[in-house]
Amino acid sequence: MPISYREQAPLTCPHCGADFSADIWLIIDADEEPEVAAALRREEVNIVTCPHCGARGPAGAPLIYHDARARRVLFAPAPGSADHEIREQARDLHALLVGSIDQEQRRPYLADVDIAQDVSGMAHLLRRIDTRQRASAAPPAAPPAAPSPAPPSPTERPPLLAAVEALLAADTAADLEQALSDHPELLDPATIATLTQLAEVAAAQGEHEIAQGLRNARDLLSGMSNRSEPERLTEIPPAALQELLSAHSDAELEQVIARHPLLLRPEIDELLAIEIETALASDAEQLAQLLEARRIALAAFRAAPAAGADLEAAIEALLLADDEEAFAQALDQYPALLSEAAEQALWEFAAEARAGGDEELARHAIACRELVRRVRAGLEQDRS
Ligand SMILES: [Zn+2]
Repeated sequence: MPISYREQAPLTCPHCGADFSADIWLIIDADEEPEVAAALRREEVNIVTCPHCGARGPAGAPLIYHDARARRVLFAPAPGSADHEIREQARDLHALLVGSIDQEQRRPYLADVDIAQDVSGMAHLLRRIDTRQRASAAPPAAPPAAPSPAPPSPTERPPLLAAVEALLAADTAADLEQALSDHPELLDPATIATLTQLAEVAAAQGEHEIAQGLRNARDLLSGMSNRSEPERLTEIPPAALQELLSAHSDAELEQVIARHPLLLRPEIDELLAIEIETALASDAEQLAQLLEARRIALAAFRAAPAAGADLEAAIEALLLADDEEAFAQALDQYPALLSEAAEQALWEFAAEARAGGDEELARHAIACRELVRRVRAGLEQDRS
C-alpha cells in the first residue's frame, strides 16, 4: 500500500472567489516520491493556479512528509488554522501515515513529529537537514579498503565520536534531543568518564580544539545527568518560592508544582520551616502565616499517595500508545504527563532502558518525552 497520499481538494480562489478543485499532496513519502520530495524543497508542492483568474499561490492544505531512511516525520499545518484545528490535522494525517506503514516497519521515530510553520517552513527545514547531512557525511579521508574487514582498523571512526559530533553540532534544544535519540549511548553514565579520558589524550597530543570540544560535550552530558539525579536542595529557588506564595488555590498550586516539581521534594518542608522562622524573627507575621499555609498544602500534595503511582501508570500508558490517538488519549487521561516531573521520569526511564541494553525502548522513551515537551510548549504558547 502506498504511503504517499494526495486528493482532489475543493478550493476557493482568494483572488477572484471562484471555486475550483486541484490535486493536493497530503502525505509525501520520500522513498516513493523522490521528485515530489525534491519539488517540496524548492517550495513548488501544493502551489495551485486558479483556472478563472490565473492567480497562483499555496493551496493552504496541511502536509506530512515522511522519510524512513532519515527516520523523520515533518508536519506543516494549513496556514491560518486555529490550534485545535492544527492538532486535528496532525492527528488525522499522522494516523493515516502510520496506518499505511506495515506493522513490522513501524519504528518509534514515527511518533517524533517535527512541526513546521507551514509548507515553506518545512522546505526550509528539509534544506537545512540536507546541508547538515552533507556536512557530516564529508568523508574523513578514508584509507583504501582493507582486504579483511576484521579486526577494526584504528582509523575507523568510533561510534562515540560520531555521537559527540552530533551532540556538539546541536545548537537548539530540539537538535540536542535528536542527537540523544540518535545516539542513546550518550546516556550511558560511563560516557562522561570516557569523554574526560579522550579529552586528556587529545590535550596531551596538542589537539586543543578537539579536547575542548570533548570537554564541552562532557559538561553538556553531565549537566543533563545532574538533572536526573538532583542534589539535596539547600535553598528554595526564589522564583519557585515567589510563585508558591502567590498560588491562592489548589489549582494554582498544582500549576506552580508542575512548573517547579522540586517543591514536592521532602527537604522543602524543612526549608520552608526555616523561612517561617526567619519571617517571625523579623516580625513578618503575615508572611510567616502565608508560608505556613503553603507548607501544609505542599505536605498534603506530597502525601497524596496517588501522585507517584499515577505518574508511573501514566508513563506506562504513554509508552504503550502505539498511535497518535492512543497518545492523545494517554495525555487526556493523565494530565500529569504534561509536568516536568513526567519529562524527568521519562528521561530516567530511557536511561534505565539504555543501561539494561534495550536501546529501542530507550529511543522510544526519548521520542515520547520529546513529543510531550512539544505538546507542553504548544500549551504554554496558547496560554500566553
Ligand atoms: Zn481566481
